[in-house]
Amino acid sequence: WRGARDGETLVPTHCCFCGVQCGIYLRVDRTGTVFGVEPRNHDINRMRLCPKGINAYQQVNHPDRLTAPLVRSSRDEPFREVSWDEALSVTAAGIRAVQARHGNDAFGMLGGASLFTEKTYLVGKFARIALKTRHVDYNGRLCMVSAAGANKLAFGIDRAGNPFSDILLTDCLLIAGANVGECFPVLTQYVWGARDRGAKLIVVDPRETAVARTADIHVALRPGTDAAFFNAVLHVVVEESLTDEAFLATRTSGWEEARAAAADCPPRRAAEICGVPAEQIAEVARVFGTADKAMAWHARGIEHHTQGVDNCLAVINLCAATGNIGRPGAGYGTLTGQGNGQGGREHGQKSDLLPGGRSINDPEHRRQISRIWGIDEAELPRAGTSMVEMVHQMRRGEIRGLLGICNNPFVSLPDLPAVTAAYDTLDFHVQCDFFLSETAANAHVVLPVTTWAEDEGVMANAEARVVKHNKAQEPPPGVRTDTWVMCRLAQLLGAGDKFAFTGSRDVFEELRIASAGTVNDYYGITYERLEETGGIAWPCPTTDHPGTPRLFEDGRTHHPDGLIHLQRVEWRPPADPYSDEYPLSLTTGRTVAHFLSGNQTRRLGALVEQTPRPWVELHPAHGFRNGDPVRVVTRRGATVLPALVTEAIRPDTVFVPYHWPIPTAANTLTNAALDPRSKIPEYKVCACRLERAEHL
Ligand code: SF4
Repeated sequence: WRGARDGETLVPTHCCFCGVQCGIYLRVDRTGTVFGVEPRNHDINRMRLCPKGINAYQQVNHPDRLTAPLVRSSRDEPFREVSWDEALSVTAAGIRAVQARHGNDAFGMLGGASLFTEKTYLVGKFARIALKTRHVDYNGRLCMVSAAGANKLAFGIDRAGNPFSDILLTDCLLIAGANVGECFPVLTQYVWGARDRGAKLIVVDPRETAVARTADIHVALRPGTDAAFFNAVLHVVVEESLTDEAFLATRTSGWEEARAAAADCPPRRAAEICGVPAEQIAEVARVFGTADKAMAWHARGIEHHTQGVDNCLAVINLCAATGNIGRPGAGYGTLTGQGNGQGGREHGQKSDLLPGGRSINDPEHRRQISRIWGIDEAELPRAGTSMVEMVHQMRRGEIRGLLGICNNPFVSLPDLPAVTAAYDTLDFHVQCDFFLSETAANAHVVLPVTTWAEDEGVMANAEARVVKHNKAQEPPPGVRTDTWVMCRLAQLLGAGDKFAFTGSRDVFEELRIASAGTVNDYYGITYERLEETGGIAWPCPTTDHPGTPRLFEDGRTHHPDGLIHLQRVEWRPPADPYSDEYPLSLTTGRTVAHFLSGNQTRRLGALVEQTPRPWVELHPAHGFRNGDPVRVVTRRGATVLPALVTEAIRPDTVFVPYHWPIPTAANTLTNAALDPRSKIPEYKVCACRLERAEHL
């Protein structure tokens, strides 16, 4: 902490790089330029920052920033820099041409969960009103929609039940499929804090992650077996009378069905499926089931599966069966990967949702939003398809044009060869970004937009705490906000009267009204209150309401009957079958120095120095030495990577981080099979084999 020197300003804001949303100060010099960062004593992070948070400011004035719109008429031509007037008029003409020829739904829009919530609200509104298309979705579809689906089914509300601070109060912390030390680094302080107070730590992960290394119990199960594991834990909880019968009787429905499924999954059966000892499963049940206050937090490790929703429901069944819901230190939560992973899915950029988490197919919800937006209900499109399904539609020629904002599918989507081929079929592709991502480099028009430090807006972190990001500097000349871009384009498309916003503040005021009275109620949250308090957890229905850091304290969920709706969960094998040719499990994930597709972090010197390239993590049993070139082969493709040989991974499992593009992309290998309910791809397990390669 250096404090502000003469002529410098410290602008309080938050780190953009994960769902913890640590408080930071951006250092601004006397010319109004961001040049550094300081930790902030915000109660989320108490001055702590991770490598990404310390380096995030460097992207703001990075020499790779796009500072002029780029246009070309075909992918064979080089881009040429043009004025904004020309770029927007080319964009509007391109949209009109696709829609005139193929219909409104032939033009799609993909948003992102690193956008401020105001912009995610605008993405949903712009797609439905200005583009008049049903095809809008966002990259949170690749992130935590399985948890969202499970939360809605069980509780009628889609967010974590407890604040981070409850981790410090728990007696038993179960972390499933969450590499906390690398993906949510500052959250580790809460884990260590709980341990310092005597809490037991259980980690369920195929890899011995930094947090798993210090766990009381590390369950290194085979990828794709989570539902069997949690059912078996519940089996033991029931068998050894560790259930909270009063809680189950008064607070839940569906217990008989959930219990029956667990009865069919004794530890010996699960041990064979999961590849862990039956005794360890029983031990987890006893430690979790006898704790006075137990909590479970999970992330993509159990969610990125074709039964991602089921896996999350199995965790909820365990928490509810032991009475661990809605108390200080007892509950359930899901860790968001993207900065606004939580807020990004609440207000309408998801294909099936309208603002306030309303369903786009519900007649009453449609009426409410049509009224607020000033349109006839008949004009409001129906639900579209999910992000991966939209790519399939591109390949089939059903979607012929696309506007992308804040996403990089050329790195982040599964089965990349099929993805790039699908994008190549688009007649017209526009991408908004602040760097020329791999996806933007394939577009016809690239619109240069602001970073998180050049605009104001809100995000909701993994606790559902809404925090305010503040503008620290003016954008470079030639750069505009995404809000400005959508509003100007709406004018050119004849919908300008519905987009008369001058900035985020105006949009937030409409969003507050649009969310009022819903489960996702933001009405009581104002910019001023956020600046005073450091953040407010929704629901927050009135401007004197303190917000809701912990859900269900009144004993009721958000279902009309107030009960937790437990669900029957049965394990199914992963979609990509093992065979003699493909005997191993490939799982993918993040590393501490990089963020999502790496479009931002692969440009930041210290982070690149820390982790310059991807690798394949594998067990010594395979006979490779560190650095050996290894070809990882799946049914979709092959990638050659250097070996990182470690006993911290199961012999039947290999791991590849996914932040890099072709030719070293993990997602060349992954399977695009989807969970039927959440439509999340199965990134966390597919069948593979290893071959010795000649060279990297
Ligand atoms: Fe940023 Fe997350 Fe690191 Fe905090 S933990 S500094 S929010 S990346």
